[in-house]
Amino acid sequence: MSRIAYVNGRYVPQRDAAVNVEDRGYQFGDGVYEVIHVHDGRFIDTDLHLARLARSLRELAIARPMEDAALLAVLREVVRRNRIREGIVYMQVSRGVARRDHAFPRDAAPALVITARHGAAFPRDIDAWTGTAVTVPDIRWGRVDIKTVNLLPNCLAKQKAREAGAYEAILIDRDGNVTEGSSTTVWAVDAEGVLRTRHLDHHILPGCTRAAVIALMEAAGIRFEERGLTEAELRAAREIFLTSATSYVKPMVRLDGAAVGDGTPGPVARRLFELFSRHADGAAHNVSRLASFSGIG
Ligand code: PLP
Repeated sequence: MSRIAYVNGRYVPQRDAAVNVEDRGYQFGDGVYEVIHVHDGRFIDTDLHLARLARSLRELAIARPMEDAALLAVLREVVRRNRIREGIVYMQVSRGVARRDHAFPRDAAPALVITARHGAAFPRDIDAWTGTAVTVPDIRWGRVDIKTVNLLPNCLAKQKAREAGAYEAILIDRDGNVTEGSSTTVWAVDAEGVLRTRHLDHHILPGCTRAAVIALMEAAGIRFEERGLTEAELRAAREIFLTSATSYVKPMVRLDGAAVGDGTPGPVARRLFELFSRHADGAAHNVSRLASFSGIG
């Protein structure tokens, strides 16, 4: 069965799907995107992803291609046509098609492309869901809180991780502080046993999984601090784990070749993995409403 994509109002076989060569997303990276995980045929944290998409569009003054209800209907239709039970749906909105000129066009309509693909089933065993990380300098621009398709520094960092045989590249800024992973939020249990993740500002993406995990922790009475870590604190951490729409809660058991803690998933990662699994299964379906939209919506 051929994959089906949605391109500017039409559902087309993906092999025939095409966008205009003067689409500003293609020429300037002038566009934004979202990835939502599909588990058991349901979207996870949809409200958070749609709120973040609206925020990204607003920050770049790109018009919304359609209202959320209509967008959700298209997302569902793409998932249905591709018969996805487990996988992801990807949506990208660019400023649209215009004669090449850096300044914004006056009258371009935003372009919307949606694709979906099958993925592995949701992991059930955290011990089989571990990975390793390497540290890489963060060379990105000053507004990475906007989820733009400009991902070249992230791609270069991820490539470094792949070449080192690692799952993720953890980015370190010029002052020696951890920002985030190349496509994930970084969490750590520091040497004193405090669970920490960096505060939100223009230098990290406000992760939807981060927001959902925070809401789950608040509901469960688990303490944490929104406080960044230095590279040295990261190296001394008892636990390091990542969150994202496709990594869920993923323990990093080695950092730059050295064991993190005892080299196995720690108790905090285990607890959050369990809470997030229940959430993904629909047991805590209202968590998106509980989640703080600050920094996202
Ligand atoms: N940080 C970056 C740079 C990302 O690209 C992503 C996800 O793509 C995340 C964090 C995690 O965000 P989310 O939990 O919404 O997937």
